[in-house]
Amino acid sequence: MYVTEPARRIAVQGEYDVVVLGGGPAGLLAATCAARNGASVLLIERYGFLGGMGTAAGVSNFCGLHANIHGEIKQVVHGTADDLLDRMRALDGLNEPHLILGKIHAQAYDISAFKLAADGLLHDSGAQVLFHALASSMTVNDDGQVDAVIVETKSGPRAVRGRVFIDCSGDADLARWAGLDFEKGDAQGRMLYPTLMFKVGNVDGARAQDAWKSIPLLMDQAEASGEFRFPRRGAIVRPQKHDYEWRVNVTQLSDADGSAADGTDAGSLSAGEMEGRRQIVEYLRFLRAKVPGFEHAYVLDIAPQLGIRETRRVVAEYMLTQEDVLGCADFEDSIGVNGWPLEIHMAGDVKWVWPPIPESRGYNQLPFRMIVPRRGAGRPGNILVAGRCAGMTHEGQSAARVSGSCFVMGEAAGTAAAMALARGTMPAELPVRDLQRQLRAQGVFLAEQQRAEIA
Ligand SMILES: Cc1cc2nc3c(=O)[nH]c(=O)nc-3n(C[C@H](O)[C@H](O)[C@H](O)COP(=O)(O)OP(=O)(O)OC[C@H]3O[C@@H](n4cnc5c(N)ncnc54)[C@H](O)[C@@H]3O)c2cc1C
Repeated sequence: MYVTEPARRIAVQGEYDVVVLGGGPAGLLAATCAARNGASVLLIERYGFLGGMGTAAGVSNFCGLHANIHGEIKQVVHGTADDLLDRMRALDGLNEPHLILGKIHAQAYDISAFKLAADGLLHDSGAQVLFHALASSMTVNDDGQVDAVIVETKSGPRAVRGRVFIDCSGDADLARWAGLDFEKGDAQGRMLYPTLMFKVGNVDGARAQDAWKSIPLLMDQAEASGEFRFPRRGAIVRPQKHDYEWRVNVTQLSDADGSAADGTDAGSLSAGEMEGRRQIVEYLRFLRAKVPGFEHAYVLDIAPQLGIRETRRVVAEYMLTQEDVLGCADFEDSIGVNGWPLEIHMAGDVKWVWPPIPESRGYNQLPFRMIVPRRGAGRPGNILVAGRCAGMTHEGQSAARVSGSCFVMGEAAGTAAAMALARGTMPAELPVRDLQRQLRAQGVFLAEQQRAEIA
């Protein structure tokens, strides 16, 4: 059954060189870098703060900033990300890096510090932001290029016109409306499972100590005794900056048929939020009953939204694959690197697959082509895509969806958009050597240098 909406005349909010949809790790860097390279920029975000999954989904931990280079762990994502990290450090909101599975570093942070630092980074770049604006459709011009994104706001619908658009929505919303091809899930359509993140407070840190090491065994024992049933193995339960506060990454949300809850389906999201909170109550019961130091823990915070790892991925000029990640691939058109392994959130478990350590250098380059949607007749050329919905296969995305790679893609997309406009060309036509020169000047590590030169 359908209803017909009367045609609407929509007020134009503004006209910009570059319009970025979505203020997650990719969109934040895309907007910042486009503005720093001289473009007028508007970033559209449905919430009232930046950070995407990193804040709205409670992630509170940066992965993918580092790589295990022949046994030595080094930060390999630099550039504008360093500015963000410095601002978070200055707010006392960034932990020192910690070891994950004995192989790589991740860096936990305070969610409020990410929000504050992101505001500052964006503001100082000169980019503008429109919060509380849910993009719902777009229009094309006579040349078949995207002309405007339509947003729904409390002040009514608004049209945001632009010359280049960067889809950092995580769900490839804009790319889909523009008729670009996308994929969803693996060959069988299976997506990575979502998680509703939460934090517990009032942990006795002195007694809990390295509890993250013993929790998997305690969970196995609790399940074997028949007292508890958990939605998945591979729990990630770690202290934040202060050890009375721990983040818990353990819920897993599926639809009635057992497939991953779908972040592009409002019904699936609604059921997932409710089920996620039910699982939180149950997991708190486990923590309090079975884990030393957690006896008096309480739910300090539940993320505002379900954490979505994967939905649509745009078919791009190049799709980053698991072979690229595991084989530490090189690309002539490198825009930066990814050092995170495959992290596949499958039904009931998390599967990790690493490049050979310490034999390999532990990171792959990321090609510019993965943020350029596949070109062709009937497809607008004034869109780039960055972040978790960029050109990656299901397996490749399980690695390069993490924050570090999203920073890399966002930095390249924003920089390329501004440079292309300054030259009167489409982003895809920009000579990649020129883009690389500019990225290098911004401090990005493109992996052309030798290992000794990595900071
Ligand atoms: C549970 C979970 C745990 C994770 N753990 C880690 C971890 O420990 N470390 C790590 O580095 N990464 C982790 N990740 C992955 C990482 O957080 C995401 O892949 C990353 O945030 C993706 O960045 P993005 O900018 O591409 O998209 P997102 O972070 O998804 O941001 C997209 C933004 O676009 C906005 N948006 C979307 N659609 C619209 C629209 N139509 N109109 C207006 N705004 C819109 C959203 O509100 C959001 O702010 C985790 C992910 C999940 C779900």
